[in-house]
Amino acid sequence: MQIEVVQGDITAMEVDAIVNAANPSLLGGGGVDGAIHRAAGPELLEACRGLGGCEPGEAKATAGYRLLARWVIHTVGPIWVGGDQGEEDVLRNCYRRSLLVAGELGAQSIAFPSISTGVYGYPVGGAVPVAVEEVRRHLEHGGASLPSSVVLPSSVVFVAFDARTYEAYRRHVGAALGDV
Ligand code: ADP
Repeated sequence: MQIEVVQGDITAMEVDAIVNAANPSLLGGGGVDGAIHRAAGPELLEACRGLGGCEPGEAKATAGYRLLARWVIHTVGPIWVGGDQGEEDVLRNCYRRSLLVAGELGAQSIAFPSISTGVYGYPVGGAVPVAVEEVRRHLEHGGASLPSSVVLPSSVVFVAFDARTYEAYRRHVGAALGDV
């Protein structure tokens, strides 16, 4: 298992699958979603039209089209409304379901953006530990209960767009790896 943190643009990642922080319509939006659609080309929107939307905490895959990544896994994060409306569980589900979809596809490497911490307002300080813990837990233990045809990715990259998010990931990935 390998967990890395980079600062940059997720659309430039050379991995098998990148995760999109989408909205429930899956028909495009701003932030990372807009960047992914621009880089992948109009075929991505066409493919998303066929998916029939996505519930918060769920994940659905399309091809990556003009991206370097072979697949895009679209997940819908929680909208932060104070923290007592189940936001953390939904955020955990986004990471868990995305890893499972990646495993079903056969993706060995996957890159995640910082789901929900942009327009959806989830505080970075709360979201980053959830992301790191959930990914680490599944890569270490989550595979045991899966069918043998599903192999979870062995390489995960957290892609932070801004310096503050990057530093938060650096701290938590360091802490998470330190106490293995
Ligand atoms: P959400 O609606 O889930 O909050 P956003 O796209 O608004 O999604 O923001 C999620 C995170 O993605 C934010 O940290 C934002 O800065 C970041 N982001 C925006 N564009 C990119 C990009 N091209 N690559 C990686 N991360 C990005």
